Amino acid sequence: MFDKILIANRGEIAARVITTARRMGLKTVAVHSDADADAVHVRLADEAVRIGPAPVGESYLRAEAIIEAARVTGAGAIHPGYGFLSENPDFVEAVEAAGLVFIGPPATAIRAMGLKDAAKKRMEEAGVPVVPGYHGEGQDAEVLAEEAARIGYPVLIKARAGGGGKGMRLVERAEDFADALEGAQAEGQASFGDAAVLVEKYVTSPRHVEIQVFADAHGNVVHLFERDCSLQRRHQKVIEEAPAPGMPEHVRAAMGAAAVEAARAIGYVGAGTIEFIADGSEGLREDGFWFMEMNTRLQVEHPVTEAITGLDLVEWQIRVARGEELPLSQDELRIDGHAVEARLYAEDAARGFLPATGRLERLRFPDASNFELGALRVDAGVAEGDAITPHYDPMIAKVIAHGATRQEAMARLLGALEATQVGGTVTNLGFLAALLRHEGFRAGEVDTGLIGRDLDALTTKPAMPDHVPVLAALVASGLDHPPGGEGPWDALRGFRNWGASEIHVALEREGETLDVALLRDGPGSWHREGTETGVSRDTKGLEVTVAGRRFRAEAARHGQSVTVWDAGRAFVFAIPDPLAAAEAAGAGGNAIAAPMPGLVKRMRAEAGQKVEKGQPLAILEAMKMEHTLTAPRDGVVAEVLANEGSQVSDGDLLLTLEAQDD
Ligand code: ADP
Repeated sequence: MFDKILIANRGEIAARVITTARRMGLKTVAVHSDADADAVHVRLADEAVRIGPAPVGESYLRAEAIIEAARVTGAGAIHPGYGFLSENPDFVEAVEAAGLVFIGPPATAIRAMGLKDAAKKRMEEAGVPVVPGYHGEGQDAEVLAEEAARIGYPVLIKARAGGGGKGMRLVERAEDFADALEGAQAEGQASFGDAAVLVEKYVTSPRHVEIQVFADAHGNVVHLFERDCSLQRRHQKVIEEAPAPGMPEHVRAAMGAAAVEAARAIGYVGAGTIEFIADGSEGLREDGFWFMEMNTRLQVEHPVTEAITGLDLVEWQIRVARGEELPLSQDELRIDGHAVEARLYAEDAARGFLPATGRLERLRFPDASNFELGALRVDAGVAEGDAITPHYDPMIAKVIAHGATRQEAMARLLGALEATQVGGTVTNLGFLAALLRHEGFRAGEVDTGLIGRDLDALTTKPAMPDHVPVLAALVASGLDHPPGGEGPWDALRGFRNWGASEIHVALEREGETLDVALLRDGPGSWHREGTETGVSRDTKGLEVTVAGRRFRAEAARHGQSVTVWDAGRAFVFAIPDPLAAAEAAGAGGNAIAAPMPGLVKRMRAEAGQKVEKGQPLAILEAMKMEHTLTAPRDGVVAEVLANEGSQVSDGDLLLTLEAQDD
């Protein structure tokens, strides 16, 4: 049997598979494109093989290159993850022809479920309820229109080769059918090279409820209960949970039995998911769910099932691939509590979920387990500093919370999202948090139309809290961040220079310029002129005071922008011009800032010292050269913010002069 596996994937799923494989004592091989040479999955694996340039067609979809990588490294098995080649029966056959084990179902089972029309026929024969509709050979526009009329509107046209919500059209009225058909056919042709469609009854109040199944090569088949994936935008899942809210035990049993039947009917082996559409208008019923399709691989949302069963599905996949029997029988499987997963994407929810790119200047999650069971689990395929590129799916991470109850799991997930900080790209964090606060969702009233109906409310940007620009101004000016860490504040303790010091910081946000005037209350402590909103810096970080209420906050500067994180939202400000900003921060020459990143070699000034214009105050070593920073005018040093030996970044304030009376 194999003791080394190659993971034919990237991102979080590759990292997730590697984690389990290692725990099981297996060696792992990652494959990567040029864009992923230093990616998380590559860093985690024992070995890595380059398989081509960034575009997926030249790398992750190259079956021969992947099989060759397995041969070269001596891997005995290939795990396909999801997407890419995972549901490609030709790939499975090629893997097996090369004498390797495919960690997944047999090619025949994938083929049986590959096309939606053939799959439905097969399921009908096996006695599994399927959505009423037409899935015949005839593809004449007239025939299809007649079938639609027979089924009764509203209907859904689906490209039979479709996936990921592509090639699907909802038609409410007969007169719209022809146009919608053309659209679905064109999309099917363009995306899958197959224009054939099927027509289905559109289920009203539809809920997407899917059953996780598992089969071994010895004829054992079990189900690992359901997941509700009704929260979708454009037919794509956003938040998934297990178990499904309001699922009666007898309906669960009926759906589970139908799913097991479906898997048996095609000789399935390994992990699979049977997706059902359920009519949620009067609660989930035994006669109110229908087979939609089967995904013959591990799903993105499998961690919620792991959380409620306490099992590792990748471990099960590997054990089944080794020829072992399923570790547990149906009556040994139990549901423990509730789990919810949110998919964190680099995308702009307010702009039609437009995918975004960018370097993740910051990526911080609250304490969580990674790729393994835990009350809070974060599966991220990227780390701080990595880039989200246009080549691949813009998913940043999956955040999964488990709790004793649905309420507890949801609260834990919301808390985690609110504490997550991403900088350098736009994300759907605010949208996800809004969903978790949505009353209907909280009450368990889910259907696939929820997001669409409430889209405006879910994507409206709440007003910016008053303390946000104050924090941004402080960070933009560099006053929040004494170079050299905590030292300078300690050094300043006991030093009383309460001379009024004022800085003006110019910031830009969404096309508007803001001028924030900060008045100094003491070392490291400022408030916005004319308000009761203050910010201060201590050894633990930034603290905000708003009319007596105090709380911690996070903000950071990256190049010419500042990001403030507040309850799951990121507010980004541009610093119009670094020199102008430094000038402004100094209110016309009160400040000496580092002109570039470097090391403070000498600090020649101390607080309270009188200085003359042009007098050297500090020496900065940068790019192997020394730069002398001089006093911009005659005056008295107010604060020294950098220690000798400290590393400073571009724009950091090194010293300030006491303000001058004009
Ligand atoms: P894809 O393979 O493109 O993901 P699916 O057939 O799995 O397409 O359907 C995707 C989603 O579309 C489902 O999760 C559900 O929200 C919706 N949907 C599919 N079929 C129906 C139907 N007959 N009635 C109502 N909604 C449906």
